[in-house]
Amino acid sequence: LSSRLRPFTSTIFAEMTALAQRTGAVNLGQGFPDTDGPERMVEVASTALRNGMNQYAPGPGVPELRRAVADHQRERYGIDLDPDTQVLVTVGATEAVAASLIALVEPGDEVLLLEPYYDSYAAAVAMAGATRRGVPLAEDPETGRFGLDVAAVRSAVGPRTRALVLNTPHNPCGAVFTREELTALAELCRERDLVVISDEVYEHLVFAPAGHVPIATLPGMFERTVTISSAGKTFSVTGWKVGWASGPAELVAAVRAAKQFMTFVGPGALQFATAHALREERPWVERLRTDLAGKQQRLAEGLAEVGFAVRRSEGTYFVCADIRPLGFADGLEFCRQLPELAGVAAVPVQVFTDDPDRWRHLVRFAFCKRDEVLAEAVSRLGRLR
Ligand code: PMP
Ligand code: GLN
Repeated sequence: LSSRLRPFTSTIFAEMTALAQRTGAVNLGQGFPDTDGPERMVEVASTALRNGMNQYAPGPGVPELRRAVADHQRERYGIDLDPDTQVLVTVGATEAVAASLIALVEPGDEVLLLEPYYDSYAAAVAMAGATRRGVPLAEDPETGRFGLDVAAVRSAVGPRTRALVLNTPHNPCGAVFTREELTALAELCRERDLVVISDEVYEHLVFAPAGHVPIATLPGMFERTVTISSAGKTFSVTGWKVGWASGPAELVAAVRAAKQFMTFVGPGALQFATAHALREERPWVERLRTDLAGKQQRLAEGLAEVGFAVRRSEGTYFVCADIRPLGFADGLEFCRQLPELAGVAAVPVQVFTDDPDRWRHLVRFAFCKRDEVLAEAVSRLGRLR
């Protein structure tokens, strides 16, 4: 194994999901829903497969999906995109992030990651031959919210800093960054000429009063931002791996240059069905959002009753909880024991950082599960009391 990849041999999701399966634990570790996406979307995909949409899709993605993404960005956010030059379909958001880093940073450049960060970012920075620099989010134990500490980001920028990976709504913290926070960050990015790779896969899974603000909508930011999303979370099809990147033609062309030699293209039929869903399934997504808001609230209340100090989740699939009130100190150890202790799996937040000491008191639970599964998990966690 190359030295670049030696630190990344296995993922925490694989470890905790295997542990959950071995022990019969309720898996609130890996974030994937246990109910299906919109029925009509699945039908569109299977019809397309039966009708012969089984050869290579066009390099930048099927045109129906590129047009649907452009219309979605215009209708939702007022972002105007040319579907031919400013939208690229990828194999999930994961490929879009990796291709963006490989295409846009030089070996030896520095990339800022906000800690905790989704695990693939660090590996993608390493594959690009760049160096990551972590900047912690500001945890406010009073309000339970994780905020953007722009002063800390500012002091982390150095002469080799080229890019920043942003993720809002945020995995694992469940934070949705405010317009004020993002405006301050945008000012810094303009000042220091940083490229922003903005992972917005949870853009539709936001609970009122929070609201999603794409950083590309802020002044002077479109031209320096690659905006990334995917079908997995919006339509509960995490296995489809249909994602997209959008932004100015110059940046999108660069990402495409990398992407074409990573996977060339992804499955056309699933792209075609995703185009249908982006246009027609808004009511379904609204229901998903409402359902998830209720699940978030019920799981948070259940965890609080068990004795965790629960942090605020404003979106995504996730809520974080402080294990110290229950007498535990280390999230990784706690998560390795939890299936045996209580028959539930979770993931430790510290593995998404380069500063485990600062984050070892937090674990992440996924609430994108059926109500009876969440109720069973809370009842089992009662054994910790
Ligand atoms: N970014 C974040 C923040 C995620 O949580 C996930 C999903 N697990 C991804 C990217 C990956 O998305 P995809 O499955 O579309 O590659
Ligand atoms: N994105 C999901 C999570 O954060 C799972 C990703 C994965 O298994 N790689 O739980």
